[in-house]
Amino acid sequence: MSFEGKVALITGASSGIGADAAIHLAKLGASVSIVGRNEIRLNAVAEKIKNSGSPVPLTIVADVTKDAERIVDETIKHFGKLDVLVNNAGIVGQDNVTTFDMPEFDRIFNTNVRSVITLSKLCVPHLEKTRGNIVNVSSIAGLKAVPNVLSYCMSKAALDQFTKCSALDLAPKHIRVNSINPGIIKTPIFKTVGLTEEVAEKMFDEYKSKYPLGRVGEVSDTSSAIAYFADEKSASFLTGILLTVDGGFMLA
Ligand code: NDP
Repeated sequence: MSFEGKVALITGASSGIGADAAIHLAKLGASVSIVGRNEIRLNAVAEKIKNSGSPVPLTIVADVTKDAERIVDETIKHFGKLDVLVNNAGIVGQDNVTTFDMPEFDRIFNTNVRSVITLSKLCVPHLEKTRGNIVNVSSIAGLKAVPNVLSYCMSKAALDQFTKCSALDLAPKHIRVNSINPGIIKTPIFKTVGLTEEVAEKMFDEYKSKYPLGRVGEVSDTSSAIAYFADEKSASFLTGILLTVDGGFMLA
């Protein structure tokens, strides 16, 4: 698989799944435009990419809920085109029907859904020129009910319909749209809902037995699935697919 000569825009590339996907696509030859709000962490990812001898990345310190236009403009201005959009930036929150808080719902939907629609719309004219594609990073939480993560589950379910509907809408333009729906992947996201590293590690360990393949996921698992969909050869006839990357968890 080679992404030589390709340009990929990856949101939420300052941490976890997005950071590893950017490093992976760059190793495969892609010029990557990486987006996140935390400049220090984003620069650390850029350094890793440069140090591995991959094409020099473009770093864009930006908020996907506010700066979509600038993100796309800077990418096109710098690289001149776009082949792949990875809508990965996402946040999780804890709520249920009794604790529901509308501002928190808006915060989650603004990041996980609205920014994806806005960015995708802005990228369509560029992806049409390259017959490119979009990979959305959803979750098994879009497919399955999980207690106490109501807004997050709803946001990922909405994202999944966005993937399927926009795959149909964009097929005449030869733009493919697919989604990966990971199970638990070891990333810092669990810290953002207040879990210490120790508690998160304990949870990963407890979940091992619930995952048929005997472990929870690593970022390398999501990166290879993202690259698979993004590759015009491997996935040329695939669009509107929601691919669970979960070691068989949804089957068990
Ligand atoms: P992390 O918390 O490690 O990374 C989240 C990334 O999103 C960071 O780079 C963060 O950057 C970025 N981000 C969040 N909000 C914004 C914003 N408003 N503007 C720009 N960037 C933003 O989480 P993961 O890597 O685990 O999660 C990535 C995606 O994978 C999410 O969509 C998540 O829902 C999904 N997922 C994760 C699973 C897991 O178990 N880890 C399971 C299933 C799905 P910064 O803070 O610098 O802005």
